[in-house]
Amino acid sequence: MTARIIDGKVIAAELRARVADEVARVKREHNLVPGLAVVLVGSDPASEVYVRSKHTQTQVAGMASFEHKLPADVSQADLLALVAKLNRDPAVHGILVQLPLPKGLNTEAVVNAIDPAKDVDGLHPNNAGRLAGGFEALSPCTPLGCIILTKSVHASLEGMNAIVIGRSNLVGRPLVQLLLNENATVTIAHSRSRDLPGLVKRADLVYAAVGKSEMVRGDWLKPGATVIDVGINRIPKDDGKTRLVGDVAYQEGLAVAGAITPVPGGVGQMTVACLLVNTLRAACAIAGLPKPAV
Ligand code: NDP
Repeated sequence: MTARIIDGKVIAAELRARVADEVARVKREHNLVPGLAVVLVGSDPASEVYVRSKHTQTQVAGMASFEHKLPADVSQADLLALVAKLNRDPAVHGILVQLPLPKGLNTEAVVNAIDPAKDVDGLHPNNAGRLAGGFEALSPCTPLGCIILTKSVHASLEGMNAIVIGRSNLVGRPLVQLLLNENATVTIAHSRSRDLPGLVKRADLVYAAVGKSEMVRGDWLKPGATVIDVGINRIPKDDGKTRLVGDVAYQEGLAVAGAITPVPGGVGQMTVACLLVNTLRAACAIAGLPKPAV
């Protein structure tokens, strides 16, 4: 049996189209144009690619996009001043400071300075705390994308055994909270976990967010499991170029899993689409409108 391939490209495109419809509706009915401000400090090539893609997709969805590029040697005070200005700007409903920040800048202080109502990355402690408490919150985009991909396979996650490998604030921890909200039974594994293959074997849903090429092997998986691979790892090819692989040995996974996400073309596609969702939600909440239909 070969696993069903969960096509992040198609699912993300559908989600972006639904966001665009809702953006058009709030514009028509409430004269509201959701706006996303992205702050890029320095010139990390990977970050530049992400920021460009966020800018284009925001505009295609009918929202306003504001880009702020700052030099790598910007002072902490100047960066905080920009965040404060964006917090006050009524045209801006979402603020994203592209991470990682260059050395010398205090990431925690910058994230904490973002108005939690505009924190579309879901990293502010208010949002992380609200999510952990089971309250309405802006949640990090990659874990949101993982849930949507899972629900393209299973209408309900209730009672399913899930394992999340990785416990970062960006991916693993918020993903655990979202899975709990879906009434899954969740195990969270990390670098100190014992018998990881044994833990994975019990799981109906496997989320790998580690950053280690093809660490999760096919024979770790329970036959028929749904596998969501968050990892993005660049490995050298024979011709001197590089290729992307996930945290799961994909070919092996295909033979055992019931459904699996490819890398690229899986989770990565969903992250920006979910950023658009969060920006739309933030704009509606700030304007006192009901939650949009995405
Ligand atoms: P971090 O490095 O912050 O976290 C990695 C986690 O993996 C840690 O909790 C660590 O454990 C755990 N870990 C490390 N080694 C092992 C091991 N041998 N066994 C079990 N657990 C282990 O990474 P991120 O969460 O930020 O990202 C994870 C991956 O997801 C990366 O490949 C990244 O590129 C990718 N990513 C993809 C996104 C997308 O849009 N698709 C978005 C964000 C990230 P411990 O806490 O004990 O150190």
